[in-house]
Amino acid sequence: MKTLVEQVPAPAHVGNALIGVRGGSEVDLDLRFEAVHEGILVSGTAAVEIAGECGRCLTPIEYDYEADIQELFYYEGSAEFEDDDEADQYWVVDDFIDVEPVLRNAVVTALPFQPVCREDCLGLCSECGKDLNEDPEHFHEVLDPRWAALAQLADFVAEDATTSKTSDKREEK
Ligand SMILES: [Zn+2]
Ligand SMILES: [Zn+2]
Repeated sequence: MKTLVEQVPAPAHVGNALIGVRGGSEVDLDLRFEAVHEGILVSGTAAVEIAGECGRCLTPIEYDYEADIQELFYYEGSAEFEDDDEADQYWVVDDFIDVEPVLRNAVVTALPFQPVCREDCLGLCSECGKDLNEDPEHFHEVLDPRWAALAQLADFVAEDATTSKTSDKREEK
């Protein structure tokens, strides 16, 4: 059995457009390699930094994630080895094993499908893009064009009322 505790740079493009591991960011590997009959069993953890943005309000999101890794890398020609495209199967090639696809799988499957900064994030205003978390009361008055003429009339009446009020005052004097 061998152990490996090492910090390596993350491979590029782990994740989706909204969230994932930034290429080159630190990955802390803590792995055990055990020789078993059919191949090499790799187990342990990979600590990564997840970075992305809220799918509703675009606020940056960052958190640490520790992926559990447990995978058997088969020796080529092993009796257990099946050439099955459906299953994720890994193997030892020329005495090397490539842990990257295993790490990628372990991280990507743990990423939130729709990342949010917090569960009740209100998102952005669909009209003007304002962050509704900062102003939950924010809204736009949607005016039906058919009412626009009436609104103008209402303004006119209000204006008229103020003018008559001032003239009333004048008369009082
Ligand atoms: Zn948000
Ligand atoms: Zn708005």
